[in-house]
Amino acid sequence: MTEKDLAQRTSLRFNDLWSYDSAPESSDYVQLKERYDLFIDGAFQPPENGKYFKSINPATEEVLSEVADAGKADVDKAVKAARKAYNGTWSRIPAKERGKYIYRISRMIQERAREFAILESMDSGKPIRESRDIDIPQVVAHFFYYAGWADKLDYAFPGVKPKAVGVAGQIIPWNFPLLMAAWKIAPALAAGNTVVIKSAESTPLSLYKLAELLRDAELPPGVVNIISGAGNTGAEIVQHPDIDKIAFTGSTEVGKLIQKSVAGTDKKYTLELGGKAANIVFEDAPVDQAVEGIVNGIFFNQGHVCCAGSRLLVHEAISEELVRKLKMRMETLIVGDPLDKNTDIGAINSRPQLEKIQRYLAESVEEGQDIYQTKCTLPEKGYWCCPTLVDNVSQSHRVVQEEVFGPVLTIQTFRTPAEAISLANNTPYGLSGGIWTDKGSKIFKVGKDIRAGVIWSNTFNKFDPTSPFGGYKESGVGREGGLHGLLPYLELSK
Ligand code: NAP
Ligand code: MG
Repeated sequence: MTEKDLAQRTSLRFNDLWSYDSAPESSDYVQLKERYDLFIDGAFQPPENGKYFKSINPATEEVLSEVADAGKADVDKAVKAARKAYNGTWSRIPAKERGKYIYRISRMIQERAREFAILESMDSGKPIRESRDIDIPQVVAHFFYYAGWADKLDYAFPGVKPKAVGVAGQIIPWNFPLLMAAWKIAPALAAGNTVVIKSAESTPLSLYKLAELLRDAELPPGVVNIISGAGNTGAEIVQHPDIDKIAFTGSTEVGKLIQKSVAGTDKKYTLELGGKAANIVFEDAPVDQAVEGIVNGIFFNQGHVCCAGSRLLVHEAISEELVRKLKMRMETLIVGDPLDKNTDIGAINSRPQLEKIQRYLAESVEEGQDIYQTKCTLPEKGYWCCPTLVDNVSQSHRVVQEEVFGPVLTIQTFRTPAEAISLANNTPYGLSGGIWTDKGSKIFKVGKDIRAGVIWSNTFNKFDPTSPFGGYKESGVGREGGLHGLLPYLELSK
């Protein structure tokens, strides 16, 4: 297709001659209770303080359900249940039996994949295409993968005796609720630990559905305890004296608080924090493929991805062509109902998150940067942001340095590989990156100089449970996924 054809097709879409009929998934697949209590010791229990808060659908602002707000006493109860389960059952049963439970959990999630995907989209605002094709299949894959390790730990770490750490306290964010839970629960259980996990305030529901599933799977009581609450509930987990290991995924700001709080204790910890990935496109890159990768890297899932390719670094020689094609592609992106199978960009997860994105964009306008937003029509209710480019930026601008966590892409150009590397590395983060070029040698040469935990070449945002994931610098401490992901849940002794 020539560029002229492309332009013509894009303008047709503006006129709505080329739009798709809506194809929404039915929310009838999800049965929600009006209220969810804390899942402690294998049963749903009301919080000691009697407090609840609401979880809403960010695409409609409707209340979906209310959930318990766990306080200090509830955290203590959950930790005691986890300790009792660790001492009484989980550390005593043969590893092969642990593996069987984890396999059972994976199979049951797989059987109920549709229900989980729809609920995840309703509670978080992410498009069903993403929850159906990425989140839930990856959740299942993680449980399957770690189930396989449960009775093979001696082979994974030959010559040393792997032993579970004990009780793990886990705290997760709102961008991939069930997937972040799977990243944490699956290796913890495989390694023989028990768990207390807290969901994020705006997305507690899929974890409570998981709790129902764990109960149906007859996982021994107390092995996984699921609680909900705000930041102070997370802090109570971190400070609890009988927790042996903290696994946190979230912002760098909170990660730093946690690091301070566990300093001087013998708690193990892993922190998976923020990112500001550069997608570097060289002059010999396949431009159309790169455009798809850039769009996939930052616009799908509303840019609510820690490893999102939020900075485009493009070689000067092709920048005009690339940005023109990128704009055309952006105009075809469908923003709207997360349950619609055609939707590319769903709702922003919460009002505070939308306001944060808007503050960054307002600052960019004040500073004289060039903003390009697509002409998408937004629903009247809910929290939305059209895909946005920010051009004419310099390295010191906040929108280049800080995590916006929205569908916002900054554009910078470079002339030499050395300049691209220097721009890519010049932020406090180092979680991920992308390199687009025709030459394998360039991928290796540039890739080895980029300080980031994951680098994709000629693709972006691809995941596999066998690969470790984690960052350099302010992007975190430790790795999750793969064999590496078992290590933080084990003591290795001679
Ligand atoms: P956040 O504000 O740091 O919250 C993360 C979790 O920590 C939530 O459950 C939160 O509870 C809880 N929390 C808040 N204050 C706490 C405290 N003082 N002590 C203990 N826990 C506390 O992050 P977010 O805004 O939810 O999530 C977005 C961030 O996560 C982004 O920075 C993103 O890059 C990062 N992320 C990183 C990865 C990775 O693997 N590196 C993956 C996904 C996301 P509330 O919900 O009540 O605030
Ligand atoms: Mg919600």
